Order: sequence, then C-alpha cells, then structure tokens
Amino acid sequence: MTRISTSTLGFPRMGPNRELKFSLEKYWKGEISDIELLNSANEIEKSGWKLQMEASIDRITVGDHYLYDMVLTWSDNLGLCPSRFQHMDAGLKRMFAMARGVDGSEALSMKKWITSNYHYMVPEYDESTVIKPNIELYLNDIKRGIDFLGAQTATPVVLGPVSLVFFTKISHGTDESVLATLLPHYKNLLATIAEMGVAEVQIHEPALVFAEQNISHLLSIAYPAILPKQGPIINLVSFMEDIGEENYQWAISQAEIGIISLDFTRGHTMDLIHKFGFPQDKTLGVGMIDSRNVWTIQPEKVSEVSDFLKAHVVKFRIQPSGSLQYLPWDFSCEKELEGHPASSLLSFAKQKLSEIQMVAQVIAGDMLLLKSHADTWEVFYKSVASGTNQPNKRWTEQDFVRSEPFEKRNEKQGLLGSPLLPTTTIGSFPQTKEIRRLRSQYRSGKITKAVYEAGIDKQIAYAIGIQEALGLDILVHGEAERTDMVEFFAHQMTGLLFTSNGWVQSFGSRCVRPPIIWTDIQRPHPMTVREFTVAQELTEKPVKGMLTGPITILNWSFPRIDISRKEQAFQLALAIRQEVKDLETAGCRVIQVDEPALREGMPLRQHGRESYLQWAVDAFRLATGGAKSETQIHTHMCYCEFKDCMGAIDRMDTDFNSIENSRSDNATLEAFVDIGYNKGFGPGVYDIHSPVIPTVDFMESKIKGFLTCLPVNQLIVNPDCGLKTRTWPETIDSLKNMVEATAKVRAQI
Ligand code: GLN
Ligand code: ZN
Repeated sequence: MTRISTSTLGFPRMGPNRELKFSLEKYWKGEISDIELLNSANEIEKSGWKLQMEASIDRITVGDHYLYDMVLTWSDNLGLCPSRFQHMDAGLKRMFAMARGVDGSEALSMKKWITSNYHYMVPEYDESTVIKPNIELYLNDIKRGIDFLGAQTATPVVLGPVSLVFFTKISHGTDESVLATLLPHYKNLLATIAEMGVAEVQIHEPALVFAEQNISHLLSIAYPAILPKQGPIINLVSFMEDIGEENYQWAISQAEIGIISLDFTRGHTMDLIHKFGFPQDKTLGVGMIDSRNVWTIQPEKVSEVSDFLKAHVVKFRIQPSGSLQYLPWDFSCEKELEGHPASSLLSFAKQKLSEIQMVAQVIAGDMLLLKSHADTWEVFYKSVASGTNQPNKRWTEQDFVRSEPFEKRNEKQGLLGSPLLPTTTIGSFPQTKEIRRLRSQYRSGKITKAVYEAGIDKQIAYAIGIQEALGLDILVHGEAERTDMVEFFAHQMTGLLFTSNGWVQSFGSRCVRPPIIWTDIQRPHPMTVREFTVAQELTEKPVKGMLTGPITILNWSFPRIDISRKEQAFQLALAIRQEVKDLETAGCRVIQVDEPALREGMPLRQHGRESYLQWAVDAFRLATGGAKSETQIHTHMCYCEFKDCMGAIDRMDTDFNSIENSRSDNATLEAFVDIGYNKGFGPGVYDIHSPVIPTVDFMESKIKGFLTCLPVNQLIVNPDCGLKTRTWPETIDSLKNMVEATAKVRAQI
C-alpha cells in the first residue's frame, strides 16, 4: 500500500488545560513578564507539536501560536498600526493595547471569524499608518519550530496579503493601494523564510471563501509580486467554505503555487474540481477531517471522497478542513463520558490527528479499517433510541406567527412604565470570583442547593439594587447562575452532552465549552423562572426574562453531523417556546431571546444562504411565536454585520432588537434605517469588551447620532453586549454615565 501524506493547518492554542488563558490574564494584571508569557505559550505550542509528531503528521504548522488572534498578530507583524497606538513601541504591550484598548484609546473592533464563534480583531489603516514590519518574534518562532520538528516537517504559516487587506478597515486609500504597500514586505518575508530552509510554507488566505468580486483581482495583483521563484513549496490554504469558481480557476492556474488546500466539509469543493479539474502537477490538500465538529467522520464520507480522489486527482494529502483551534484539546480527559454511547465517536484535536491517519490509510486501501469505523457508528445508532431521523410534525403553521402584528402588540405593550429612551442592559452583570466560587462549590457538592440558591439570590438582589440606584428602566437579574449563555440552557435540556475540559477559544483569553448534541432535545422543567421571580419580586420595574435562542444554542454547540441542523434547531426552539410560556405565567412582561449567532451561521456564498435564513428565522419564530401580544419580545445580536440579512432580521418579528454597534461603526444602524425598520431598536452605545469607561459626552453624542436616523420612540439605550467580563466598579461607572447621557438627551427633546 502506498502511504498517503498528511498535514495539519493549526492546533488549539490555549493548551490542554487553558494554560495560555491563565498566563495571559496574569500578564494583563502585571503579575508575569513578557518572557514568562512567551515561555508559557511556547510550552503549550511544544506539547501540540509533540502530539502531532507522535501521530506521524508530515507537515506541522509553526509560527501560528497566536497569543490573541491571527489577524491581530499579522497586522502587528507588519506594523499595521492606527494612529492612536503609534505612540507605543512595537511589541506585545502595543499588540494587547490594540486588542483591549488603553488609556482612552478604543480597542480595534472585533468581528466574528468566518461563520464561527471565534472572533478576530479588525486591523485599521489610516492616513498615518506606515507599514513597518516587526517580525523578529515570528522568525524566532519559526526557528524554534525548525529546531524541534526539522525543516521538512515545520511548516511556517503566513496570513496572506489579500486576506489581511480584506479584513482591514481602510480609512485612507483603497484595497489596491494598501495591498501595494504591503507587497514588498511580503516578498521580503517569504524570501527570509525561504532562506531558513523549510520545505513548505502555508499561506492562509481565508478571504478566498468570500464571494466578493474583487478578491480574485487582488489575488492576481499580489501573488506574482511576492512568491519566490525558488525555495519552499507554496501551499495556498483556504477553509470554512469552497472558494468559488473564480478563485478556484485563479488558484489552479498559478505555476508558483504547488499545493492548494481546500475545505471538503463545507461548500461545494468537489463540484469545483469536477467542473474545472485539478492539475496533475499540484498537490491537493484534502480538508476532509472536520476541524469544527467533534463528531468523527462518517464512513460514507470517507468512501465518497476516496472514490472522488481516485477518479479526479493525482497528487493529494489528507488534512483537517481548517486549523484544529476550533476544537478542544483531548477527549480522553473526559472521564465522565467514558462508556457513553457517543464516546467512541467523539474526537477532539488530539483524536483528530489519529482520524487523519485513519482516513489516509483507508484511502490507501485499508478496507478493514473502514469497516471497523463503520461498525462503531452502527453500534452508536443501535444504542440511541432517537426519533431524530423521523420527519417531525410537532408544530403547525400558526406556531410560527405571533397572534397580532407589531403595531397592535406595540399598543398593548405600551412603554411598560418606562420614559422615552428607556435604558436597559443586555443581561449579564460581572461574574465575580465570589459567583464563580459559589457555582463551583455547588457543582462539586460542597454546598447544598438551598445554600447555593440563597447565594445566587443575594447576587440578584445586589444587581437589582444597583440598577434601581442607577435609575435604569428595564432591569435584568444579572445571570449570576450562568456559566455561559449556551451551556446554562443546554444543561437543563436532555439530549446534550457536556465536557469537563472541552474548552475552545472564543476571543483573546475567553474560552467556551460547547455542549454536544447527541440525541433528541427536550426541556423537562422550567429553566429560568425561579431567578426571574426572585428578581421581579424585588422591583416594580419590569425585569427582562433572559433566554438564549435556538440558533445560538445550535451554532455554539457541536451538532450531530448525520441529522439536519434545521431539525436540531426546531427541537431547541420548542424547548425555548415552553420557557417563554412559563415566564409569562410567572408574570414576565419583557423577554429577551438572544441570537448573537444567527448571522455567523449564514453560509458565505449565495447557495445555501436563503434556505439557512429561512429555517433559522423560522426556528426563532417557533421559539417566540407563542408569546402573548402584551409580552414584549426582544432579541440581541452582536459582532456581525447584518447588512446582508436585513430581511431575515425583520422577519424575526421581535418587538425590540438591541444590537452591537459601537465597535463596528454605524453601518449596522444605517442598514436598519435603510430597510425602514419600524420596531424598537437599541444600537449599543458603548463597547463592553474594553475596560475603558465611556464618558457621558461620548454616549450623549452616540445617542444623538442615533436620533438623527431614528425616531425617538423607537430607540432604547443599552450597552453593546452583556457585562459579565467587566468588574463591578467598571460596570457601575459606565452605566452611571450611560443613564446620565440619556437624561441629558431626554432633557433636550
Ligand atoms: N444575555 C447575554 C449576556 O448579557 C448576551 C450575551 C451575548 O450576546 N453574547 O451575557
Ligand atoms: Zn452580545
């Protein structure tokens, strides 16, 4: 049997036990030095390398152990720095300042990373930006990689120039002019890497998967100008979708590109190859091991791709569909899941490495291996008494529609006793050490349920007291009982599995532990009613019931790969629908159903978009359609541009919509105005991800800016997102200013 070669495209950066998170947080508090932070990161990187070496992966990435985010590091590597940070010396301090803000300088904006729950920092290019590379650290990292793995295996990763430009907010010049400034530096960089003797370089061009017209134009300007004529093989890497006809045709016609890495788990990659062929002299990186889901590959998929490759491709290698950063580190640590019917099919980053080898061997001809893999799936199917494969008839047409249109509902809801420009928050308040301790003591059985609930109630009382004192209008209970907005709900439903250590980076040092959907979903009991009631009994003002929507739960979980996402979303929607009913019965007048992930799940290319938005919005409507007209339904969304799905947002038919706005300019607000959105609207007035306290003036002018495009009775005043990552002093000062800014505006209308 011939051996088929393998590669990876990146490994989780947080470490087996989130070591990087803890080091970063210590570093930000000034408790450890630059060197100590880097040492800690290097150790993690090394343990990832070891695992990949042990799994006999042929090409292992180096230079990609980003401390905060790939795009941020690359803008920093190239010295792409907006004027407000230019007084700082290049280096870690400046890079983190760009990520988190410093002394009144707003951080770069943050956006969701290509259909995922990872976030990237948006680089800025303004009139004072001078590209000045700063690649010493990067070259050092590559050297370390070569020393450890050898020059044949160590594969440097570079974020491609077209993607860097594509992700950058350019306020001075055009895509072409900024690209032109970057190219000589890319050329030098690639030449320097070539001198280091590596066999291959991966140029990651995530922008390839976007449908925007000018990508292939930028590609054809950039690549002839930067690729060395000799030296390492160039591997052009894309992920998360297919790259579309235009980009595909461009890629296969580039003589200097030796390897093209494509995603075989999403989009229509095989159709492209089928239609345009794949050149015999190039190697295809077959990204068929799903880097974004913990379920192991289905045997049918292996056979399908294997047959396809044999028919159409001469040279290929097997690899994950993207970086394994979207997966937790190692499933074998999950002792509590041992013996679970799903456990033999679950595969985290470490297990994916074996999966790569398994698939490579099957494709090389080991049919017994495929048979035993198929048997494992069969055993699972036999052990799940799941109805999920059956068409579902648990809803009717009417269940998707509120009983009256918005205008009627609005009259019945009135202003709930609030003044004009009602102030509110998005849900969570600071998750203090005390709260975390309380939850962990309860989880480990150290305290009784009664003691735990009394502790939570104290937190709720505190949050209500603060909000009353600040003079906010629509209150929240503060979410002290929630670890995160998905895990909390998933825990109370059946059909989902939880890990104890399955952390995945969301942004910076923040990690989430996505649940795993493994069978039918149900909600056996109310999930939020107790805490709502405790809060509402403490105040005359309306307290918002706070729920997470079905699409967000789905997108931030690992769904089954053998059942449609629509089916799974509708099951979740029915569970949320029951909760809405129970909250109403408990006297709740305002219910917020958060859908921050709605937009991120939207396919990048036109095919698939319409049907996604159809079922995704239907799922939301199924969750909220049963609410009485008197109940004000809110939703909240963040870190996305919504311009291209405004119709869908309107179709969600919420009474209020609060949306992240302050870190991504006013484009979002304008998009709402453009479609004549007539329902309640709360564009965020300040960024909650930065520790910087927004001033009264700043927010007053934001609100006034909003009022230039929206009528006053449509506007609600709130921060960009929940406040759980902030401290109480920061929260109080910020909200005090927000309420004051609102009062000032009210006085002027
Ligand atoms: N209600 C949630 C909170 O405040 C919303 C979080 C989010 O949108 N990501 O934490
Ligand atoms: Zn949010």
